[in-house]
Amino acid sequence: MTKYLIVGAGLFGATFAYEAAKKGHEVKVIERRNHIAGNIFTKEVDGIQVHQYGAHIFHTSNKKVWDYVNQFATFNRYTNSPVANYHGEIYNLPFNMNTFNKLWGVVTPEEAQNKINEQKSILNGKKPENLEEQAISLVGTDIYEKLIKGYTEKQWGHSTKDLPAFIIRRLPVRFTYDNNYFNDDYQGIPVGGYTQIVEKMLASDLISVETGVDFFDRKDEYLKKFDKVIFTGMIDEYFEYSLGELEYRSLKFETEELDVDNYQGNAVVNYTDEKTPYTRIIEHKHFEFGKGDKNKTVITREYPKNWSRGDEPYYPVNNTQNNTLYKKYKELADKEATNVLFGGRLGQYRYYDMDQVISAALNVVKVELGI
Ligand code: FAD
Ligand code: UDP
Repeated sequence: MTKYLIVGAGLFGATFAYEAAKKGHEVKVIERRNHIAGNIFTKEVDGIQVHQYGAHIFHTSNKKVWDYVNQFATFNRYTNSPVANYHGEIYNLPFNMNTFNKLWGVVTPEEAQNKINEQKSILNGKKPENLEEQAISLVGTDIYEKLIKGYTEKQWGHSTKDLPAFIIRRLPVRFTYDNNYFNDDYQGIPVGGYTQIVEKMLASDLISVETGVDFFDRKDEYLKKFDKVIFTGMIDEYFEYSLGELEYRSLKFETEELDVDNYQGNAVVNYTDEKTPYTRIIEHKHFEFGKGDKNKTVITREYPKNWSRGDEPYYPVNNTQNNTLYKKYKELADKEATNVLFGGRLGQYRYYDMDQVISAALNVVKVELGI
């Protein structure tokens, strides 16, 4: 039996811990924050599950992952349909016939497609090489200007000309009247919040969990004491930034409890202009269809900010420069693979969604622990 140390009690670490304990291994989990569950941590306030680190909607087309996560919670039928607020004008997201109709008055898919073709002609058929060109090529200049440019530059702190095209391809573009933000087969919010998922994953007697503990305070000692370390923190921090810093994007969350039942009529409203300093306001009770205190609501404003050491690194910035540096860190990591495995959004420096994190953890489980 192997003695594992897992650094980070987020979804990656918890999935690995659950599987390792199931196979009889002894696991210790240490977590820098004062709670488990990493960025999917939710907490109840006034009968409302508050997503402490931004809106989390589980969506996947991977049936295996969907069945897997359903062991730990019952999911409701929530379908994410955010709206965009551009200087008080409201548009449906993702970009679909409702958006096109409101913006241009077009009614049929053909009219919408013609309008986009007309606007994207400024690219002269050029293959999109950055986010700006990709956006214009997908939805034309009007949507790019009103719903993409401001939001994206606030979110990432870079010009859309310097960002990779794949970021905007996360969003569907549809020529139907369908406001579902995702194309996936399965979607929902766990009834009672996300924290229970990680709690159940870590419930085994073979797993001990310590929060408020930083791996770097006793790195050498941990490496000696345990047979193997699963590290889900920042890969560049692990190597003491010896090859330079990877770039991350951080966020500030401003949460308010209000004495009204319904503040904005939707779980997620994006502010897509460049002046409003936040990117979105979340009204948490709408994730569970208004459940909770009728005279209260909880909202969170999400302000993007530059990351510097000591801040929470919420997003990897996967442009060419950073990905090249990551590859060099990955080479260092591969040399340590008999003692340390790197996983998750920060350990693998990848813009993973929750389903991808579970899938990545199960892949490591397969190699490390056998099926
Ligand atoms: P984390 O949750 O970051 O866990 C890593 C843990 O390691 C952290 O708790 C950290 O404190 C700890 N740690 C780091 N360094 C150390 C150290 N030195 N010592 C001890 N502990 C350490 N995904 C979706 O599928 N749908 C969504 O709608 C969605 N929305 C999101 C919205 C926001 C604002 C953000 C930031 C992410 C969103 N995600 C969403 C992505 C989702 O949060 C991640 O895929 C998932 O939580 C990553 O899990 P993880 O275990 O890799 O990382
Ligand atoms: N995006 C945008 N306008 C919006 C919503 C999203 O331009 O109203 C762009 C933006 O660049 C963002 C990307 O689409 O970073 C991906 O959006 P998603 O909602 O997937 O971001 P996340 O939830 O991961 O922050």
